[in-house]
This record gives sequence, structure tokens and C-alpha cells, in this order.
Amino acid sequence: MARVFVGLGSNLSGPRQQLQSALASMAGIPHTALLHHSSFYCSAPVGPGEQPDYVNAAAELETDLPPLELLDRLQAIENAQGRERSVRWGARTLDLDILLFDRQRIDEPRLQVPHLRIAERNFVLQPLAELDPELTLPSGETIAELLQRCPQNRLQKI
Ligand code: ATP
Ligand code: MG
Ligand code: MG
Repeated sequence: MARVFVGLGSNLSGPRQQLQSALASMAGIPHTALLHHSSFYCSAPVGPGEQPDYVNAAAELETDLPPLELLDRLQAIENAQGRERSVRWGARTLDLDILLFDRQRIDEPRLQVPHLRIAERNFVLQPLAELDPELTLPSGETIAELLQRCPQNRLQKI
């Protein structure tokens, strides 16, 4: 089974509830187990225009699904929770990103892993560090090392 980390984010329509419901749905993905999730964090929006604050978390999964099938499942959960994709990085009910998939590097049109912006986002790295600070990227860097170099945008454990 592959060990996978997923980043969760929401800043619309009851963000905490959106994350709770996404975790419940992720626990039901076939051939997959939801092992742990981090605390929830409130973070400053980074996208365009005025947006509400985000709630973010990370989850650890084990799966026998190939990466693109897991992505399909995660996108189905986003869609079921009303995700619209009008503005890039705009406000959203739910974002589920595959952050790490074992120590695989994946570069497909629909899927790049490790997530391309992992190193610049403390709202991703901090929840990951809570799950496992020794977690390593395919490059060999640990989450703890990345976090030290990452811009410290406003982030607060809820
Ligand atoms: P960001 O990638 O900067 O976090 P976003 O999460 O808002 O932005 P989305 O609109 O959720 O972007 O996704 C856009 C596309 O990104 C998806 O259709 C998906 O195919 C692709 N994608 C590429 N790599 C990944 C990944 N690691 N996890 C999830 N989606 C990915
Ligand atoms: Mg995202
Ligand atoms: Mg996304």
C-alpha cells in the first residue's frame, strides 16, 4: 500500500464542516484507509481579491489505488461538496490536493507530485509536520527543514 498525504482547504460555506465532511468521505474511498488527520488551522488567504480566511488540515492515507484513481476520487468529493472552478485560486468550498504519494515523483498533465507549491505554503507544511516532522520528500528534504525556510504567513491552530 502507498502512504499518501492529502491537503484539505476550505473558505466557503462552513469551512470546518466542509473539512469534517471531506474526511468522512475520504474514509469511504475504496481500497484506501484514512489513518490520521492533523488539527485544523486558520490561515490567511493567498489567492486573488478579497477572500475569507481558510481552514486547512492534512490527512494521512494508505491506498492501493493508482495515483490518478485517487485523484478522481478526491475530485468527486470536491464536486459533491459544491466545488466550482471559475477563478484560479479563488474562494472554494473544498480543495483536496495530493501532497505526497510515497516517495514517488509524478509529472502528468493532471497530476504533479510532490505538490508543486508545497515548499512555499506554511498552511500545508505545518499540518504535515504535525502528522510526521520526519516525513521526507523524494528530494530527501524533511518537512521540518522545508518549514524552516517557508514564508511565515498568518496561521493559527483552531
Ligand atoms: P494549487 O494547485 O495551487 O493548490 P488549486 O488546488 O486551487 O491550486 P485546483 O483547481 O484544485 O487547484 O486544481 C487544478 C488542477 O490541478 C486539477 O484539475 C488537477 O488535475 C491538477 N493537479 C495537479 N497536481 C495535483 C495534485 N498534486 N493534487 C491535486 N490536483 C492536482
Ligand atoms: Mg490547492
Ligand atoms: Mg486543488
